[in-house]
Amino acid sequence: MGSNGMPRKSCEQFLENAFELLAVAPEKRQLLRSPYRELRFELPLKRDDGSISLYYGYRVQHNQSRGPFKGGLRYHKDVDLEHFVALAEIMTWKTSLLDLPFGGAKGGINCNPHELSSDELETLTKRYTQRMAMLIGPDQDIPAPDMGTRPQEMAWILDAYSHHGGFSPAVVTGKPVELGGAKGRNEATGYGVAIVTALAAEAEDIPLEEATVAIQGIGNVGAYAARFLAEKGAKIVALSDSHCGLYTEQGFDVEGVLQKVARCKEEGGQLSDLNDVFEIISNEELLELDVDILIPAAIGGVICEGNAEKIKARLVVEAANMPITCKADTVLNNQSIKILPDILANAGGVTVSYLEWVQNRQRFQWSRKRTLEELENRLTDAWEAVEQKTREEQLNYRQAAYFIAVERILKAIDLRGF
Ligand code: GLU
Repeated sequence: MGSNGMPRKSCEQFLENAFELLAVAPEKRQLLRSPYRELRFELPLKRDDGSISLYYGYRVQHNQSRGPFKGGLRYHKDVDLEHFVALAEIMTWKTSLLDLPFGGAKGGINCNPHELSSDELETLTKRYTQRMAMLIGPDQDIPAPDMGTRPQEMAWILDAYSHHGGFSPAVVTGKPVELGGAKGRNEATGYGVAIVTALAAEAEDIPLEEATVAIQGIGNVGAYAARFLAEKGAKIVALSDSHCGLYTEQGFDVEGVLQKVARCKEEGGQLSDLNDVFEIISNEELLELDVDILIPAAIGGVICEGNAEKIKARLVVEAANMPITCKADTVLNNQSIKILPDILANAGGVTVSYLEWVQNRQRFQWSRKRTLEELENRLTDAWEAVEQKTREEQLNYRQAAYFIAVERILKAIDLRGF
């Protein structure tokens, strides 16, 4: 794990476990671990004030046995190639587990998007797309939003790509609805978190109507997960941003608190300014709360060796990518804490990305209702497959999810041959 929760490595153990269970031959293990292609390229940018800043663009394409590479673009000052290698691999397992006809990829730029003007971001994103134009495309590699990128960046990618490829909305997903984005894509990841949390809570005998939930992170994923879980009757008792958290024993009026936070931030304030209404807690304290369900929805590596023994939740739902380190995973398992792995818990985003890609290719936009129903069906199918596998093979949820995902990739490789 690097600084600021930027994961540098995926957990070898998760994959190793699946390899053992599936008795995968050593050379195939190597093939499944190593990325197909790793790219890093210079992205110089002339700033609004006339100075030059040098950034790097990255794209790691991990596996395409089951379809074109698929995965988000992350803009964050601390990313590097290793970081994207780890995240691209996760996308391979995620698309496979959800049975989407895609492989796995991830990329981005090592910039802080909050320090760039809209014009600067547009130039940088379009330059990134031009450099990548030979390697992306509706049947090659389809980027999407991730941390630090929004539908606006996807619109700029569509524009830059379409200059050479003709109007190609299916080259990128998570676009604004006006440019062929799927209705419901924006809330899809958080909605998916709520759907699988409800399914797992039921299986674990945690009645959602009485359950207490703590959510770390109120970005797009955390905020929508909070809204949808509250709609399902759960009691959201803690929410946080990167600075600190808010706590209330009786549970938030989620919409009300999110509006208060948004207003406070618009006025240049911080979450801690709401101390007259809520109790202020640290992010560390939030993770260690005695709640039924804990949802890390921010950055990677927040549950680590240092705090794993202090986690009290019965169910941890990985809304972020890789929020639990390899060692912490073992500690939580030993404490009989159930974990819904990221490749299932936050797969709602890429699933609706797939539905967007389908709609773009059909030149036919579905209603939000139809898209979210299809999402719910697909997540429920994936959950049922995982749950069945846990029972059949005496595995935990993560082991079962990896088992299914890796088995499908192996099958595709065998069928295609070399
Ligand atoms: N960035 C999201 C993820 O990590 C979505 C990727 C996509 O839609 O392609 O799953």
